[in-house]
Amino acid sequence: MSYLTEEQKKELAANARAIVAPGKGILAADESTGTIGKRFAPIEVENNEENRRLYRQLLFCSPPEYAQYISAVILYDETFWQKADDGRRFVDILKERGVIPGIKVDKGVVNLLGTDEETTTQGLDDLGKRCKNYYENGARFAKWRCVLKIGNGRPSELAVMENANVLARYASTCQQNSIVPIVEPEILTDGTHDLAACVEASQRTLAAVYKALHDHNVYLEGTLLKPNMVLPGYDCTTKYTPEQVAEATVTVFQRTLPVAVPGVTFLSGGQSEIVATTHLNAINAYKATKPWALTFSYGRALQASVLQAWKGKAENVKEAQSVFLHRARCNGLAALGKYEGEDSSGAAGKDLHVSKYTY
Ligand code: 13P
Repeated sequence: MSYLTEEQKKELAANARAIVAPGKGILAADESTGTIGKRFAPIEVENNEENRRLYRQLLFCSPPEYAQYISAVILYDETFWQKADDGRRFVDILKERGVIPGIKVDKGVVNLLGTDEETTTQGLDDLGKRCKNYYENGARFAKWRCVLKIGNGRPSELAVMENANVLARYASTCQQNSIVPIVEPEILTDGTHDLAACVEASQRTLAAVYKALHDHNVYLEGTLLKPNMVLPGYDCTTKYTPEQVAEATVTVFQRTLPVAVPGVTFLSGGQSEIVATTHLNAINAYKATKPWALTFSYGRALQASVLQAWKGKAENVKEAQSVFLHRARCNGLAALGKYEGEDSSGAAGKDLHVSKYTY
């Protein structure tokens, strides 16, 4: 029989807890080459390796204050090996600022036969080898994204079971290589469904995920959950207050998320920057039994206004970095329930929804 050693468990739990330290969250900067191209297109920046490096440098080499709010960064493989202008690896610069480097390890989704465009996520075959190499080169956590949908009978039982199981296999493989797995079963907001439908789907999905993690002997103290917030469909005609979203989200966790899991790091899922921050704040301000850290792991909602400020121009780097610091600070406050709102007329108020989102 093979087990994690006590040393491994200690390290996994300590790293998981450090990622969700009070008032801190994750910058998800792990856009694949295709996805970052979609971010660059509207600001007319060519999607080549050097521009991708310059953009990630802007983020990671920002003045070190951002590390007060950003505990960890998720990187894409290309970025993991890239260097700043001064020749040092990004990974080493992050570590020097006290920011934990992580790595996206899934290889994207494929359709499940006989379903309405439901998917599973690939990348298990060589995962152990890749985790070992990433660990030796500085990564301490990983992310694997599964995607579920609502409407027309979805998520089907097949999609729920398959994705729960693949997340558990991923988590077990990461932990055997001392990497904290961030378990991400993302339910997309596409659709007209109401909040109750998302409660039902999220509950069913998370119940299956935690059953599978249990069956695969995953050490929950050394994991994190990266879920969707519980939201109505993007095209739902009923509007809900942040307090209703908070209540629905926390209720789903109370019913499904073991106390042993140290924290939840939400994805932003196409909400505008300000809406994502407002919802996170409402979740933390909501009075209820919440034994987990509840924080952010935002991609779009930490970067949209940064990209707008940068526009690929060296002379805009400083301004873009101060926009990044502002968003990081707002989300850090929201993770404590202390965000007081801001003007939503600029880039930060812009809706970031992409239908059938791939990452
Ligand atoms: P968004 O915050 O843009 O939804 O992305 C986060 C992420 O890591 C998706 O896997």
